[in-house]
Amino acid sequence: NAILVSGADGFIALHIVNDLLQKGYTVIGSVRNPEEAALLMKDFNNNPKLIPVVVEDISKLNSFDHVFQEYGSQIKGVLHVASPVHFESSDVVNDLLIPALNGTTAVLNAIKEYAPQSVEKVVITSSFAGFVSPKQMADKNTVVTEDSWNDSTWENCQSDPISAYCASKKFAEKAAWDFLEKYKSEVKFELAVISPGWVFGPQLFSRGVKPVMNVSCEIINKIVHARSIDDVPFEMMGPYIDVRDTAKAHIFALENDSCNGHRLILNEGFFTAQEILDIVHNDFPEVGKDIPMGNPGTGKKLLEERFTADNSKTRKILGFPFRDLKETVDDTVAQIIEVNGKK
Ligand code: NDP
Repeated sequence: NAILVSGADGFIALHIVNDLLQKGYTVIGSVRNPEEAALLMKDFNNNPKLIPVVVEDISKLNSFDHVFQEYGSQIKGVLHVASPVHFESSDVVNDLLIPALNGTTAVLNAIKEYAPQSVEKVVITSSFAGFVSPKQMADKNTVVTEDSWNDSTWENCQSDPISAYCASKKFAEKAAWDFLEKYKSEVKFELAVISPGWVFGPQLFSRGVKPVMNVSCEIINKIVHARSIDDVPFEMMGPYIDVRDTAKAHIFALENDSCNGHRLILNEGFFTAQEILDIVHNDFPEVGKDIPMGNPGTGKKLLEERFTADNSKTRKILGFPFRDLKETVDDTVAQIIEVNGKK
Protein backbone atom coordinates (compact mmCIF):
# COMPACT_ATOMS: atom_id res chain seq x y z
CA ASN A 1 0.00 0.00 0.00
CA ALA A 2 1.80 3.06 -1.25
CA ILE A 3 1.11 6.76 -1.60
CA LEU A 4 2.31 8.69 -4.66
CA VAL A 5 3.48 12.25 -3.97
CA SER A 6 4.16 14.26 -7.15
CA GLY A 7 6.86 16.94 -7.09
CA ALA A 8 8.24 15.23 -3.99
CA ASP A 9 11.27 17.51 -3.72
CA GLY A 10 9.25 20.74 -3.48
CA PHE A 11 8.99 22.91 -0.36
CA ILE A 12 5.56 21.64 0.74
CA ALA A 13 5.90 18.10 -0.65
CA LEU A 14 9.07 17.34 1.33
CA HIS A 15 7.14 17.93 4.57
CA ILE A 16 4.34 15.70 3.28
CA VAL A 17 6.78 12.93 2.34
CA ASN A 18 8.46 13.17 5.73
CA ASP A 19 5.16 12.99 7.62
CA LEU A 20 3.99 10.02 5.53
CA LEU A 21 7.23 8.13 6.14
CA GLN A 22 6.98 8.82 9.85
CA LYS A 23 3.49 7.36 9.83
CA GLY A 24 4.84 4.18 8.23
CA TYR A 25 3.58 4.66 4.68
CA THR A 26 5.52 3.58 1.63
CA VAL A 27 5.97 6.71 -0.46
CA ILE A 28 6.54 6.89 -4.21
CA GLY A 29 7.92 10.37 -4.84
CA SER A 30 8.14 11.84 -8.33
CA VAL A 31 10.97 14.22 -9.19
CA ARG A 32 12.14 15.62 -12.51
CA ASN A 33 15.44 13.83 -13.07
CA PRO A 34 17.76 11.15 -11.67
CA GLU A 35 19.98 13.75 -9.97
CA GLU A 36 17.01 15.04 -7.93
CA ALA A 37 16.06 11.44 -7.17
CA ALA A 38 19.53 10.80 -5.77
CA LEU A 39 19.41 13.96 -3.66
CA LEU A 40 15.98 13.03 -2.32
CA MET A 41 17.22 9.60 -1.28
CA LYS A 42 20.30 11.09 0.33
CA ASP A 43 18.22 13.58 2.31
CA PHE A 44 16.01 10.78 3.60
CA ASN A 45 19.00 8.56 4.46
CA ASN A 46 18.06 6.05 1.77
CA ASN A 47 14.86 5.18 3.61
CA PRO A 48 13.76 1.88 2.04
CA LYS A 49 10.12 2.97 2.23
CA LEU A 50 10.80 5.87 -0.14
CA ILE A 51 10.78 5.03 -3.85
CA PRO A 52 11.85 7.84 -6.20
CA VAL A 53 10.44 7.92 -9.73
CA VAL A 54 11.25 10.35 -12.54
CA VAL A 55 8.43 12.37 -14.08
CA GLU A 56 10.27 14.81 -16.28
CA ASP A 57 7.53 17.21 -17.28
CA ILE A 58 3.94 17.13 -16.10
CA SER A 59 2.94 19.16 -19.17
CA LYS A 60 2.90 15.89 -21.11
CA LEU A 61 -0.43 14.13 -20.85
CA ASN A 62 1.22 10.72 -20.58
CA SER A 63 3.83 11.85 -18.05
CA PHE A 64 2.61 9.61 -15.20
CA ASP A 65 1.77 6.52 -17.27
CA HIS A 66 5.05 4.71 -16.58
CA VAL A 67 4.67 5.28 -12.84
CA PHE A 68 1.23 3.68 -12.75
CA GLN A 69 2.24 0.93 -15.19
CA GLU A 70 4.94 -0.10 -12.74
CA TYR A 71 3.38 0.64 -9.34
CA GLY A 72 -0.34 1.13 -10.05
CA SER A 73 -1.56 -1.94 -8.21
CA GLN A 74 0.26 -0.80 -5.04
CA ILE A 75 -0.85 2.85 -5.07
CA LYS A 76 -3.78 3.49 -2.72
CA GLY A 77 -3.51 7.24 -2.48
CA VAL A 78 -2.21 10.07 -4.66
CA LEU A 79 -1.16 13.50 -3.44
CA HIS A 80 -0.70 15.63 -6.54
CA VAL A 81 1.41 18.53 -5.31
CA ALA A 82 3.59 19.32 -8.37
CA SER A 83 2.76 22.50 -10.28
CA PRO A 84 4.87 25.43 -11.45
CA VAL A 85 5.11 28.11 -8.74
CA HIS A 86 6.92 31.18 -10.04
CA PHE A 87 6.10 34.55 -11.47
CA GLU A 88 8.96 34.85 -13.96
CA SER A 89 7.64 34.02 -17.38
CA SER A 90 7.23 35.55 -20.80
CA ASP A 91 5.21 32.54 -21.97
CA VAL A 92 2.60 31.95 -19.27
CA VAL A 93 0.64 29.46 -21.34
CA ASN A 94 3.51 27.01 -21.64
CA ASP A 95 5.26 27.85 -18.36
CA LEU A 96 2.26 28.00 -16.01
CA LEU A 97 -1.14 27.18 -17.45
CA ILE A 98 -0.36 24.03 -19.45
CA PRO A 99 1.78 22.23 -16.84
CA ALA A 100 -0.77 22.95 -14.08
CA LEU A 101 -3.74 21.80 -16.14
CA ASN A 102 -2.09 18.90 -17.96
CA GLY A 103 -0.30 17.72 -14.83
CA THR A 104 -3.60 17.15 -13.07
CA THR A 105 -5.16 15.54 -16.10
CA ALA A 106 -2.09 13.34 -16.63
CA VAL A 107 -2.20 11.96 -13.08
CA LEU A 108 -5.93 11.27 -13.22
CA ASN A 109 -5.73 9.69 -16.70
CA ALA A 110 -2.96 7.38 -15.53
CA ILE A 111 -5.06 6.33 -12.53
CA LYS A 112 -8.03 5.62 -14.81
CA GLU A 113 -5.92 3.62 -17.25
CA TYR A 114 -3.69 1.66 -14.91
CA ALA A 115 -5.03 1.81 -11.35
CA PRO A 116 -8.78 2.44 -11.44
CA GLN A 117 -9.49 -0.01 -8.64
CA SER A 118 -6.43 0.43 -6.42
CA VAL A 119 -6.37 4.22 -5.97
CA GLU A 120 -8.96 5.12 -3.34
CA LYS A 121 -8.10 8.74 -2.64
CA VAL A 122 -6.68 11.64 -4.60
CA VAL A 123 -5.72 14.88 -2.89
CA ILE A 124 -4.93 17.79 -5.19
CA THR A 125 -2.89 20.74 -3.95
CA SER A 126 -4.69 23.76 -5.30
CA SER A 127 -4.28 27.25 -3.86
CA PHE A 128 -6.15 30.18 -2.44
CA ALA A 129 -5.21 31.66 -5.81
CA GLY A 130 -7.66 29.32 -7.49
CA PHE A 131 -10.44 30.84 -5.42
CA VAL A 132 -9.81 34.52 -6.10
CA SER A 133 -8.22 36.54 -8.93
CA PRO A 134 -5.97 39.56 -8.29
CA LYS A 135 -8.89 41.77 -9.34
CA GLN A 136 -11.23 40.14 -6.81
CA MET A 137 -8.49 40.42 -4.15
CA ALA A 138 -8.45 44.19 -4.54
CA ASP A 139 -12.20 44.40 -3.81
CA LYS A 140 -13.03 44.67 -0.13
CA ASN A 141 -16.48 43.21 -0.77
CA THR A 142 -14.96 39.87 -1.77
CA VAL A 143 -15.28 37.22 0.95
CA VAL A 144 -13.57 33.98 -0.05
CA THR A 145 -15.22 30.79 1.19
CA GLU A 146 -14.95 27.12 0.25
CA ASP A 147 -17.43 27.82 -2.58
CA SER A 148 -15.47 30.64 -4.27
CA TRP A 149 -13.80 30.50 -7.67
CA ASN A 150 -11.21 32.76 -9.27
CA ASP A 151 -13.14 34.66 -11.97
CA SER A 152 -10.31 34.82 -14.56
CA THR A 153 -10.71 33.30 -17.99
CA TRP A 154 -8.04 31.37 -19.92
CA GLU A 155 -7.60 34.44 -22.14
CA ASN A 156 -7.67 37.34 -19.68
CA CYS A 157 -5.42 35.66 -17.10
CA GLN A 158 -2.51 35.82 -19.54
CA SER A 159 -1.94 39.56 -18.91
CA ASP A 160 0.78 38.90 -16.30
CA PRO A 161 2.40 35.89 -14.57
CA ILE A 162 0.66 36.43 -11.21
CA SER A 163 -2.79 36.41 -12.81
CA ALA A 164 -1.78 33.39 -14.87
CA TYR A 165 -0.43 31.49 -11.86
CA CYS A 166 -3.64 32.15 -9.92
CA ALA A 167 -5.79 31.01 -12.82
CA SER A 168 -3.57 27.97 -13.45
CA LYS A 169 -4.62 26.66 -10.05
CA LYS A 170 -8.29 27.19 -10.87
CA PHE A 171 -8.09 25.40 -14.23
CA ALA A 172 -6.13 22.50 -12.73
CA GLU A 173 -8.59 22.10 -9.88
CA LYS A 174 -11.63 22.37 -12.12
CA ALA A 175 -10.16 19.72 -14.40
CA ALA A 176 -9.99 17.34 -11.44
CA TRP A 177 -13.64 17.81 -10.42
CA ASP A 178 -14.75 17.57 -14.06
CA PHE A 179 -12.70 14.41 -14.55
CA LEU A 180 -14.28 12.73 -11.56
CA GLU A 181 -17.75 13.73 -12.67
CA LYS A 182 -17.11 12.34 -16.15
CA TYR A 183 -15.44 9.08 -15.15
CA LYS A 184 -16.91 8.34 -11.75
CA SER A 185 -18.18 4.95 -12.91
CA GLU A 186 -14.70 3.97 -14.14
CA VAL A 187 -12.58 4.92 -11.12
CA LYS A 188 -12.81 4.17 -7.44
CA PHE A 189 -11.14 7.23 -5.95
CA GLU A 190 -12.64 10.03 -3.90
CA LEU A 191 -11.26 13.54 -4.36
CA ALA A 192 -10.30 16.24 -1.86
CA VAL A 193 -8.66 19.58 -2.63
CA ILE A 194 -6.30 21.45 -0.30
CA SER A 195 -5.97 25.17 -1.02
CA PRO A 196 -3.34 26.99 1.04
CA GLY A 197 -2.69 30.70 1.25
CA TRP A 198 0.97 31.79 1.10
CA VAL A 199 2.91 29.00 2.77
CA PHE A 200 5.68 29.93 5.21
CA GLY A 201 7.74 27.94 7.67
CA PRO A 202 11.04 26.06 7.77
CA GLN A 203 12.44 24.04 4.90
CA LEU A 204 12.47 20.36 5.80
CA PHE A 205 16.19 20.21 4.96
CA SER A 206 18.47 23.19 5.37
CA ARG A 207 19.67 22.87 1.74
CA GLY A 208 16.32 24.48 0.91
CA VAL A 209 17.68 27.73 2.35
CA LYS A 210 19.20 29.22 -0.79
CA PRO A 211 20.13 32.77 -1.82
CA VAL A 212 16.75 32.86 -3.61
CA MET A 213 14.20 30.59 -1.97
CA ASN A 214 10.85 29.13 -3.05
CA VAL A 215 8.41 31.89 -3.96
CA SER A 216 6.53 32.15 -0.65
CA CYS A 217 9.53 31.87 1.70
CA GLU A 218 11.42 34.28 -0.53
CA ILE A 219 9.16 37.05 0.84
CA ILE A 220 10.66 36.44 4.31
CA ASN A 221 14.16 35.84 2.90
CA LYS A 222 14.01 39.22 1.12
CA ILE A 223 12.97 40.94 4.36
CA VAL A 224 15.77 39.32 6.37
CA HIS A 225 18.28 40.50 3.76
CA ALA A 226 16.75 43.96 3.21
CA ARG A 227 19.32 46.72 3.78
CA SER A 228 17.31 49.65 2.43
CA ILE A 229 13.61 50.42 2.42
CA ASP A 230 13.49 49.64 -1.32
CA ASP A 231 14.52 46.05 -0.62
CA VAL A 232 11.36 45.35 1.41
CA PRO A 233 8.58 43.81 -0.73
CA PHE A 234 5.82 45.97 0.84
CA GLU A 235 3.42 44.98 -1.94
CA MET A 236 3.33 41.40 -0.65
CA MET A 237 0.30 40.60 1.50
CA GLY A 238 -2.41 37.99 1.70
CA PRO A 239 -3.58 34.84 3.46
CA TYR A 240 -0.92 32.68 5.11
CA ILE A 241 -0.48 29.19 6.57
CA ASP A 242 2.47 27.26 7.99
CA VAL A 243 4.02 24.49 5.88
CA ARG A 244 3.76 21.95 8.72
CA ASP A 245 0.02 22.58 9.00
CA THR A 246 -0.23 22.35 5.21
CA ALA A 247 1.41 18.91 5.22
CA LYS A 248 -0.77 17.80 8.13
CA ALA A 249 -3.92 18.85 6.26
CA HIS A 250 -2.89 16.85 3.18
CA ILE A 251 -2.46 13.72 5.25
CA PHE A 252 -5.69 14.37 7.13
CA ALA A 253 -7.49 14.62 3.78
CA LEU A 254 -5.82 11.42 2.60
CA GLU A 255 -6.94 9.50 5.67
CA ASN A 256 -10.37 10.93 6.44
CA ASP A 257 -13.57 10.48 4.47
CA SER A 258 -14.90 13.70 6.01
CA CYS A 259 -12.78 15.56 3.43
CA ASN A 260 -14.15 13.70 0.41
CA GLY A 261 -15.68 16.06 -2.13
CA HIS A 262 -14.45 19.12 -0.24
CA ARG A 263 -12.32 22.13 -1.18
CA LEU A 264 -10.43 22.99 1.99
CA ILE A 265 -8.94 26.46 2.49
CA LEU A 266 -5.79 26.67 4.61
CA ASN A 267 -5.51 30.15 6.04
CA GLU A 268 -4.75 31.13 9.61
CA GLY A 269 -5.00 34.85 8.91
CA PHE A 270 -3.68 37.58 6.63
CA PHE A 271 -0.16 39.02 6.61
CA THR A 272 1.56 42.08 5.22
CA ALA A 273 5.29 42.51 4.64
CA GLN A 274 5.28 45.24 7.30
CA GLU A 275 3.95 42.78 9.88
CA ILE A 276 6.72 40.32 9.01
CA LEU A 277 9.21 43.17 9.32
CA ASP A 278 7.81 43.99 12.78
CA ILE A 279 8.11 40.35 13.90
CA VAL A 280 11.73 40.18 12.71
CA HIS A 281 12.58 43.37 14.65
CA ASN A 282 10.84 42.19 17.81
CA ASP A 283 12.06 38.61 17.86
CA PHE A 284 15.50 38.92 16.23
CA PRO A 285 16.84 42.32 17.40
CA GLU A 286 20.45 41.46 16.51
CA VAL A 287 19.49 40.74 12.91
CA GLY A 288 16.98 43.58 12.89
CA LYS A 289 19.74 46.15 13.46
CA ASP A 290 20.70 45.94 9.78
CA ILE A 291 17.11 45.90 8.44
CA PRO A 292 14.95 48.99 7.80
CA MET A 293 11.98 49.50 10.14
CA GLY A 294 9.33 50.64 7.65
CA ASN A 295 6.35 51.97 9.63
CA PRO A 296 5.98 49.60 12.59
CA GLY A 297 2.44 48.73 13.61
CA THR A 298 0.82 49.94 10.38
CA GLY A 299 0.77 46.60 8.51
CA LYS A 300 -2.84 45.64 9.25
CA LYS A 301 -4.11 48.91 7.79
CA LEU A 302 -3.03 47.86 4.30
CA LEU A 303 -5.50 44.98 4.46
CA GLU A 304 -8.53 47.14 5.17
CA GLU A 305 -9.31 47.86 1.54
CA ARG A 306 -8.82 44.29 0.39
CA PHE A 307 -10.71 40.98 0.34
CA THR A 308 -11.38 38.82 3.38
CA ALA A 309 -11.92 35.10 3.87
CA ASP A 310 -14.05 32.76 5.93
CA ASN A 311 -12.70 29.22 6.17
CA SER A 312 -14.74 28.15 9.19
CA LYS A 313 -16.04 25.10 7.31
CA THR A 314 -12.46 23.90 6.70
CA ARG A 315 -11.45 24.51 10.33
CA LYS A 316 -14.41 22.46 11.49
CA ILE A 317 -13.57 19.55 9.18
CA LEU A 318 -9.85 19.52 9.99
CA GLY A 319 -10.34 20.17 13.71
CA PHE A 320 -6.75 21.18 14.50
CA PRO A 321 -5.38 24.68 15.16
CA PHE A 322 -3.01 26.36 12.71
CA ARG A 323 0.26 28.04 13.64
CA ASP A 324 0.04 31.83 13.80
CA LEU A 325 2.10 34.39 11.88
CA LYS A 326 4.62 34.93 14.67
CA GLU A 327 5.44 31.23 14.95
CA THR A 328 5.69 30.56 11.23
CA VAL A 329 7.79 33.69 10.61
CA ASP A 330 10.02 33.05 13.65
CA ASP A 331 10.78 29.50 12.54
CA THR A 332 11.45 30.56 8.95
CA VAL A 333 13.76 33.39 9.99
CA ALA A 334 15.61 31.30 12.59
CA GLN A 335 16.49 28.71 9.94
CA ILE A 336 17.60 31.34 7.40
CA ILE A 337 19.86 32.95 10.01
CA GLU A 338 21.24 29.61 11.13
CA VAL A 339 22.11 28.47 7.61
CA ASN A 340 23.50 31.82 6.47
CA GLY A 341 25.52 32.09 9.66
CA LYS A 342 27.19 28.80 8.91
CA LYS A 343 28.29 29.90 5.44
P1 NDP B 1 7.93 24.23 -5.16
O1 NDP B 1 8.35 25.04 -6.34
O2 NDP B 1 8.89 24.04 -4.06
O3 NDP B 1 7.41 22.80 -5.66
C1 NDP B 1 6.81 22.61 -6.88
C2 NDP B 1 7.13 21.22 -7.38
O4 NDP B 1 6.49 21.00 -8.65
C3 NDP B 1 8.62 21.02 -7.60
O5 NDP B 1 8.99 19.72 -7.24
C4 NDP B 1 8.75 21.23 -9.10
O6 NDP B 1 9.89 20.61 -9.65
C5 NDP B 1 7.48 20.58 -9.58
N1 NDP B 1 7.16 21.01 -10.94
C6 NDP B 1 6.87 22.26 -11.35
N2 NDP B 1 6.66 22.28 -12.68
C7 NDP B 1 6.83 21.01 -13.12
C8 NDP B 1 6.78 20.39 -14.40
N3 NDP B 1 6.49 21.08 -15.50
N4 NDP B 1 7.03 19.06 -14.47
C9 NDP B 1 7.33 18.34 -13.36
N5 NDP B 1 7.40 18.88 -12.13
C10 NDP B 1 7.16 20.20 -12.01
O7 NDP B 1 6.60 24.91 -4.63
P2 NDP B 1 5.68 24.66 -3.36
O8 NDP B 1 6.13 23.51 -2.56
O9 NDP B 1 5.52 25.97 -2.72
O10 NDP B 1 4.30 24.31 -4.07
C11 NDP B 1 3.73 23.02 -4.11
C12 NDP B 1 2.27 23.12 -4.49
O11 NDP B 1 1.59 23.94 -3.55
C13 NDP B 1 1.99 23.72 -5.87
O12 NDP B 1 0.91 23.01 -6.44
C14 NDP B 1 1.57 25.15 -5.54
O13 NDP B 1 0.74 25.71 -6.52
C15 NDP B 1 0.84 24.93 -4.22
N6 NDP B 1 0.78 26.13 -3.39
C16 NDP B 1 1.92 26.73 -2.89
C17 NDP B 1 1.81 27.84 -2.08
C18 NDP B 1 3.01 28.53 -1.50
O14 NDP B 1 2.86 29.61 -0.95
N7 NDP B 1 4.19 27.95 -1.54
C19 NDP B 1 0.50 28.44 -1.78
C20 NDP B 1 -0.62 27.72 -2.31
C21 NDP B 1 -0.47 26.61 -3.09
P3 NDP B 1 11.21 21.50 -9.96
O15 NDP B 1 11.51 22.25 -8.71
O16 NDP B 1 12.24 20.48 -10.30
O17 NDP B 1 10.83 22.40 -11.08
